[in-house]
Amino acid sequence: MPQVKTGQHRSAMVTGASRGIGRAIAMRLAEDGLDVSVTDLPNAKNELEETSKAISNLGVKSCAILMDVSSQEDVERAVAEHVKALGGIDVMVANAGIAVTAPLVETTSEQLTRTLDINLKGVYFCYKAAAKEMITQGRGGRLIAAASVSSHRGGKWQSAYAASKFAVRGMSQSISQELAEYGITVNVYSPGVINTQMWDAIDENMSERRGQAKGSTFNGMLDVIPLGRHGLPDDVAGVVSFLASVDSNYITGQSIVVDGGMWFS
Ligand code: NDP
Repeated sequence: MPQVKTGQHRSAMVTGASRGIGRAIAMRLAEDGLDVSVTDLPNAKNELEETSKAISNLGVKSCAILMDVSSQEDVERAVAEHVKALGGIDVMVANAGIAVTAPLVETTSEQLTRTLDINLKGVYFCYKAAAKEMITQGRGGRLIAAASVSSHRGGKWQSAYAASKFAVRGMSQSISQELAEYGITVNVYSPGVINTQMWDAIDENMSERRGQAKGSTFNGMLDVIPLGRHGLPDDVAGVVSFLASVDSNYITGQSIVVDGGMWFS
């Protein structure tokens, strides 16, 4: 059975990489010596090109690819572009995601569909397109996706989001069973409260619903984080670096919670 080997030159694709956790992961994998393609929606073109340039400055190859992960056609085109530019694909980090924060009775059908299209189907399409290449290459690989602590425990006003993230964990477990024979591992990272634009929006929404000042929900989370601080994108990037490395060769189908000790997985 093939497996990732020390010293093997590899490449990774990271989705939702123009900012936040995705950008930190892309930079970290480049620091680890991988060639990295960064992808995001067309409206993030400038930030994405800036990230790609920062990666190239680290001495590895990089390219910026615009795509919407909820379109299977887009994802297949992006993976083909990556393979052509970087000579194969070894790591897929399906990071792009959105968070809808709304009570059940207010969540619209459109919000539910969009959440599932991006958070669930987006990961599925990324896994599928990358797995096809990895199976053909025959040198193993890594499928890695963003889940969440909300993939382990539902939270108030997070029904659509938690549904999508529980599904990411379930499908990753299933796919890990089927791709093991190709030496392809499938794991997810499950962040807690990480200081990014996504949490800015969650905080604004939740604080307003509670009639509290902006920032109060985010800061209030400190009371339930044993390690006493909010997470940083680099905290998550370090875990993804491990999941992408040879050191995780014997780990598959897992969710690694990165939350300062809030929940047990
Ligand atoms: P951000 O919102 O900061 O960044 C997400 C990126 O994904 C944005 O650039 C966004 O673009 C992009 N994106 C959204 N929709 C699509 C799409 N259809 N196709 C391609 N790209 C898209 O999020 P974070 O960095 O905070 O989160 C990254 C991942 O980690 C997400 O999957 C999130 O659910 C997960 N996570 C984050 C936590 C946190 O505390 N921050 C906690 C738990 C999980 P645009 O801005 O244009 O929408």
